[in-house]
Amino acid sequence: MAVGWCLGRGALEVGPGSGGLRRPVAGAGMRFLRNTMATVKEKLMTPLTAGIKVPNNKISIVGSGQVGMASAISILGKGLCDELALVDVMEDRLKGEMMDLQHGTVFLHTRKIVAGKDYAVTANSKIVIVTAGVRQQEGESRLNLVQRNVDVFKSIIPQIVKHSPNCIFLVVSNPVDILTYVTWKLSGLPKHRVIGSGCNLDTARFRYLMSERLGIHPDSCHGWILGEHGDSSVAVWSGVNVAGVPLKELNPAMGTDKDSENWKEVHKQVVDSAYEVIKLKGYTNWAIGLSVANLCETILKDLYRVHSVSTLFKGMYGIENDVFLSLPSVLSAAGLTSVINPKLKDDEVAQLKKSAETLWNIQKDIKDL
Ligand code: NAD
Repeated sequence: MAVGWCLGRGALEVGPGSGGLRRPVAGAGMRFLRNTMATVKEKLMTPLTAGIKVPNNKISIVGSGQVGMASAISILGKGLCDELALVDVMEDRLKGEMMDLQHGTVFLHTRKIVAGKDYAVTANSKIVIVTAGVRQQEGESRLNLVQRNVDVFKSIIPQIVKHSPNCIFLVVSNPVDILTYVTWKLSGLPKHRVIGSGCNLDTARFRYLMSERLGIHPDSCHGWILGEHGDSSVAVWSGVNVAGVPLKELNPAMGTDKDSENWKEVHKQVVDSAYEVIKLKGYTNWAIGLSVANLCETILKDLYRVHSVSTLFKGMYGIENDVFLSLPSVLSAAGLTSVINPKLKDDEVAQLKKSAETLWNIQKDIKDL
């Protein structure tokens, strides 16, 4: 049974012992005919090896919607993987997306792009990015949305683990912190291999907005957004700096209501920006896609870079429940190898605890985990 469509060459085999080339022909039992009329391919090349190649750096993306495809093109643009697999339930659109990407492979450094509804196409993945999910319906409660997405994840996560038991999960679907917890529970994988994209995007937005105020490239503007991805995220003002110069030392009121420059607004803009972009274009995709590719690069290249991603927070800052929140985390080929312990102010810890409580109040009522 075909499990998916793939970019590839027709299977050509070398006949055992004969030294001659043989070509498979359709028909019962795949009969092999002695090839007297060699094809162009057979004339061009002499095969020296046979056998199935296992990919070294395969990435799979579940969900080929706006976020999945923006992640795909960002990953392909950076040449991060030797094979990319896409999975979705919308078969026609999925096939169209796959073909469209395949037609661009001449401009890429990834030769093999596959897609299918069957999770066999994801086999041997190093990283599996989950962007699938259902959207909130009008009047629907957050808990109800979570429960519907848990049911979607039940059809995804065990299948992924079956085909790629050594993979690292990167969860992007919202609510990302809760769905990272759900993925951890459903997968049975150790916590360092289940990572939520968390506040990686929020931090990128913060650095961009900071750069706009200062006229300096965002790469040189440093600051961290931690905690819950979304409304209750925490901006760590004490750590905001350029070239090691803490901006809070230049403006002690930074991040407070007494600040005449109103830097607090920058954090508010971070929180509001997703809503604003969604209002304007219907969804967000480019920035999240670029940030996902950045995380994949750190993992696949074993870079030990620090990112604000969602990890199991239990035992930190007095949080006792199994909740996932973002902390600056060191990522490597092994997954999330350690967390940095930022020195947080009492009100920042209080905000984290409040987020943890909110998440746990939703998580504790999830059925069938
Ligand atoms: P979308 O609706 O365009 O794509 C979702 C895709 O999931 C669709 O193609 C759908 O067919 C697929 N899907 C649904 N059920 C599936 C299943 N059981 N198996 C496989 N595929 C399935 O949505 P989008 O705009 O791409 O957003 C995807 C998710 O990413 C949303 O939850 C969104 O809120 C989230 N998101 C997260 C961040 C972040 O920073 N974490 C940023 C942006 C968006």
